[in-house]
Amino acid sequence: MDLNNDPVDHIDEKDLGEHIHALVRRLYPICRSITGDGLRKTLRIINSYAALEIREVPSGSRAYDWQIPREWNVRDAYIRDSLGNRVVDFKKNNLHLMGYSVPVNKKAKREELLGHLHTMPEHPDWIPYRYSYYKDDWGFCLSDNALKALNEPEYDVYIDSTLENGHLSYGEAYFPGTSSDEILFSAHACHPSLCNDNLSGLAIAAYLARTIGSKKHRYSYRFLFLPTTIGPLAWLSRNEDKLSRIKHGLVLACLGDAGISTYQESRIGNADTDRAMVVALRDSGTPFNVRPFTPYGYDQRQYCSPGFNLPVGCIMRSPNGCYPEYHTSADNLDFVQPAPLADSFSKILATINVLENDYKYLNLRPKGEPQLGRRGLFDKAAELGLMWILNYSDGHHSLLDIAEISGHRFTFLKEGADALVETGLIKQIS
Ligand code: ZN
Repeated sequence: MDLNNDPVDHIDEKDLGEHIHALVRRLYPICRSITGDGLRKTLRIINSYAALEIREVPSGSRAYDWQIPREWNVRDAYIRDSLGNRVVDFKKNNLHLMGYSVPVNKKAKREELLGHLHTMPEHPDWIPYRYSYYKDDWGFCLSDNALKALNEPEYDVYIDSTLENGHLSYGEAYFPGTSSDEILFSAHACHPSLCNDNLSGLAIAAYLARTIGSKKHRYSYRFLFLPTTIGPLAWLSRNEDKLSRIKHGLVLACLGDAGISTYQESRIGNADTDRAMVVALRDSGTPFNVRPFTPYGYDQRQYCSPGFNLPVGCIMRSPNGCYPEYHTSADNLDFVQPAPLADSFSKILATINVLENDYKYLNLRPKGEPQLGRRGLFDKAAELGLMWILNYSDGHHSLLDIAEISGHRFTFLKEGADALVETGLIKQIS
């Protein structure tokens, strides 16, 4: 399979970034959290791009050391001044309400209110993103400039939210291949109106699932769209029987900003997943960073915990916490752009292409170099790395190994291997 050469449902590659950005725009206004109707609505929209099973795990269920929390839903929330003006209004921006705020309906003295307000003085126009999932609390987030205008002695505080037994929702898409060995993609779906973290990951995962679902492939593919931390824990605790099939995995996050691609390796560090991603990034010819695993960051923390140690890395552009717009209202529809979204998509697809085509071959004329000229291959020998393929097709080295050793582009080596197979000089053995 050469996914690189196939259009996505006939979407022109140059338009792909626009399509992914359009999905980001569609999801942007929804108030998401780790549970609730905003998360469900998000999964239903993604379901229209990729055939998802939407699963519901009841509140109170165990997931290893954790418990599925109560379900949070919110209809309205505001701070109102004495003239009846909503000076902070959830309906204008869902970041204004701290996630998982308990219901409140009271008058609050300014001093009490200040203890529940969050701002970013270093960026006085931005609204920070805050939540309190596992401790009952309430709060509002606002720009520091808006805070400075709150000079009345008392305000009405209203949060029309519910925290009740319900469910944690997640979406799962599975596309069987010729092998039951799996490649896992995981994207967190719990952040409200924040684009890079992580509508970019969700939208790219949706388009990847749509692409994979429409093609034949060697690996089976599983896509998970779930709330961070508790979502993977819920999935892992209910699917331990499937984990031995996961041969590769990528967490997708922060994929639409202008920064260069950053790959965080799996805990294993030199798993084929890690090596394939690095070769795909190298072959892209654009700058990139690779950093080792740390037990911080996104949901690779769960997949790579020592009880699983799955080969799951994380592909990003600017990493979480490393750009000022992170977890603020400035992570908006301007901060993510079609071109980096399309670029991230193509690099992930190139990684899939490496994994799908990473076979071992055996040189059938290993004593000396075979004469390529009379087989019509001499002119292509240098570009396609034919001598490298012939020399290392010893039954032990795969095309990915040869790509690393030789520095040749993987796609060229695949083309070279196909040509050598056609002339009977090598054969595929695994
Ligand atoms: Zn985040």
